Amino acid sequence: MPQDTIPFLITYGDTSFLLSSMEEYNQLPDSLKQPEVLQQIQSYLSENYPAETNTKDTPVVFMLVSTFMFFMFMKMIWSAKKELRKTSDENSDPHSAESCLTYKGKELHFTTEEIKSVCLKYNSYFRNLSPEKQSRFIDRVQQFIRHKDFYIYSSKGYKEMPILISAAAIQISFGLTHFLLPHFSSIIIHPEEYFATDPLRILVGNVQGQSITLSWKHFLDDYQKPADGKNVGLHEMAHALQVQYLFTNHRGAGEFKADFEQYDRLDDEIMYKEKTKSTALFDYNALRNKNEFWATSVELFFEQPEALYKHYPNLYNSICSVLNQDMLNR
Ligand SMILES: [Zn+2]
Repeated sequence: MPQDTIPFLITYGDTSFLLSSMEEYNQLPDSLKQPEVLQQIQSYLSENYPAETNTKDTPVVFMLVSTFMFFMFMKMIWSAKKELRKTSDENSDPHSAESCLTYKGKELHFTTEEIKSVCLKYNSYFRNLSPEKQSRFIDRVQQFIRHKDFYIYSSKGYKEMPILISAAAIQISFGLTHFLLPHFSSIIIHPEEYFATDPLRILVGNVQGQSITLSWKHFLDDYQKPADGKNVGLHEMAHALQVQYLFTNHRGAGEFKADFEQYDRLDDEIMYKEKTKSTALFDYNALRNKNEFWATSVELFFEQPEALYKHYPNLYNSICSVLNQDMLNR
């Protein structure tokens, strides 16, 4: 295997990470070293270093590539048809969906009262904070907004978009000293489900490069049902926190990594139990890989802490340590 073949992008469903050396891969926590990652690396190598590929495998590779190309082609036709149907149904200007509103965070000046009233209305976590903690929360939201740019793929933008998405980031990082997620400069907002490429997928949220992307419809729906265990905003922020603390030389990363390793020792056994139990707390997506399991655990931690603690107290406690907050003793 050639040694200097990176950087390459590894993806886990709705999350992507950029590795810049093979050494970085070897240093990843176990939760991120998975068969699908190795598969991605192998396919990267075969695409970029064909000389390394065994010639005996060429027919198989050719068949695989052909099948993949055919599949992608069919997906493109399907998506084009869907877009046409949508345009026709809505009888709207086909370019309107492509318009993107851009807001530089440092030019958005929301007052304390504006942020407070939006968070009180939509964010139950904020509502349950003491007045003193609410002030700290609002101050962090203001700082977070100032450090991001917001891209809204819609003809209309609402102040609730930057405020509530920033509030989700502050919620998950509220126990941590460093909360700005500086690796991520862009917040991208789609009105509803959207397409992502490489690979082509339909998503309601994802983390890729330096962007956190969300479907506003799903984000808001999930915050309006704060105890159903589903929250795409917190889910994506959990992935973003992983990228920030595990993949960059972030301040405070040492302690986070140590706590994360503790958490990382528990999840295999719980995933196995969840796959074999008839009444499962975690959904199918959570059990696809350890990365999705982490993001879903965070959703349950905030939305169903009693259930998570009742089923898996050690897992609950390990998340308390990673995030430095306890939803059952606030
Ligand atoms: Zn995910």
